[in-house]
Amino acid sequence: AISPKAIVSDACASYSTLERLNRNVKPALDDLTRTTDFFSHYRVNLFHKKCPFWNDESGMCGNIACAVETLDNEEDIPLVWRASELGKLEGPRARHPGKSMQKAEPRRPLQGGLGENVGESCVVEYDDECDDRDYCAPEDESATSKGDYVSLLRNPERFTGYAGDGAKQVWDAIYRENCFQRSSFPHSAALGQDISPMGPAAMDFKAVIEAAGRQQVLEQQRQHNPLTPFVAKTGLEHEDECLEKRVFYRVISGMHASISTHLCWDFLNQTTGKWQPNLDCYINRLHKFPDRISNLYFNYALVTRAIAKLGPYLSKQQDYTFCVSDLDQDGVTRAKVMAVAEQAASVPEIFDENLMFKNGEGPSLKEDFRNRFRNVSRLMDCVGCDKCRLWGKLQTAGYGTALKILFEFDNNDKPQAPILKRTELVALFNTYGRLSNSMEALQKFRGMVEDIEAAN
Ligand code: FAD
Repeated sequence: AISPKAIVSDACASYSTLERLNRNVKPALDDLTRTTDFFSHYRVNLFHKKCPFWNDESGMCGNIACAVETLDNEEDIPLVWRASELGKLEGPRARHPGKSMQKAEPRRPLQGGLGENVGESCVVEYDDECDDRDYCAPEDESATSKGDYVSLLRNPERFTGYAGDGAKQVWDAIYRENCFQRSSFPHSAALGQDISPMGPAAMDFKAVIEAAGRQQVLEQQRQHNPLTPFVAKTGLEHEDECLEKRVFYRVISGMHASISTHLCWDFLNQTTGKWQPNLDCYINRLHKFPDRISNLYFNYALVTRAIAKLGPYLSKQQDYTFCVSDLDQDGVTRAKVMAVAEQAASVPEIFDENLMFKNGEGPSLKEDFRNRFRNVSRLMDCVGCDKCRLWGKLQTAGYGTALKILFEFDNNDKPQAPILKRTELVALFNTYGRLSNSMEALQKFRGMVEDIEAAN
């Protein structure tokens, strides 16, 4: 059990402080993510990118072999409750306007449409290239692959039945990214991947071959190939690691814990067809593993700090426009963003990013850390369920944005205004929303366990 007064390690706040903060932030955060066009629609490339690390056809949820592991007998279950159906996206989707169209007529309505009453000027993003400081995987340069605008409200993160070897392979490869080597070594997934020889990972690979000799690299490749079996580390094994490596692990594990919390909380009872919390699911995936819950709280502290740091920049009209051709909506959205950011700033010193990448091997780890995080975001293209891929991509982009704010923007007297893309802001605030929901659900689950214990 976790004592409420205990401090969440690597953060500067107790569990109860974070829970109190969440009670204050959540109403504003729900309002922002549920009632503004800007924050309820996400532009994502879900269907045009192949898994860059392995042939993912066997991991697709439409494949019965993936679904049968979760459901006793898929064929006995009504079609609409089957994993392949639950994982599908719902609602209208609009395509990104291509580059040529942007040049010719920048504010033309979207092909495909976003649904009634959705302000396109609050949703469409034109300049969305990644830069060197990004922790997300840069999207393809070609305009056709920029993806679709998807309603997050119509596609809630919840149980989909995606499980089995496909899901396990993705999680294993994600955790394998945590096996830091010397900073000059290429990241593990990059070593085993099948990508264009011109890609950034291939460049690293070439440099290492030159520096370390082919034999040594082949040995690294053998050890870290994503297809070799992986033994998960326990939370305790990370205690001895330096802060940077620990933070990397905690971000991933906390994200995993949040996904597990959502699927346990919004679970489909396949006997009754009702969506309801599944206490066994919570006990087996979270309650028995306090370190996973601690990592989720840690992520909450980290993202809170990033939003608090970003807040002042978003407050001024000249720094960021949310809705280009709808000034009323722009003002309303900005006010809602500020309500969240002000609450986030109400607990100062919740996480100290200045301690990272400073001492010992820290400075040399920064690039490796960023490359590894990019690989985690690339791994989302290997997730074989559309809805899971949507939320997986959004959350890795959200953490990537938080890390970028914390580690790439100066804390000098005259800090540079951070330039964030629309997708980054939407991902950041919705990732915060996911964590906020998870914390509330975890408290309710804990209450259920306590009630049962009290009754016995
Ligand atoms: P998994 O959750 O698959 O975990 C695999 C192993 O990782 C565990 O055995 C354990 O050793 C370790 N582990 C588990 N949790 C943690 C943690 N927090 N920290 C460290 N180690 C841990 N399913 C849905 O129903 N809805 C979704 O929206 C959804 N989204 C997904 C998004 C992604 C990116 C991925 C990869 C999968 C998603 N899934 C989703 C599938 C879901 O996460 C599980 O993989 C699935 O439910 C099977 O669970 P499991 O019990 O086999 O363990």
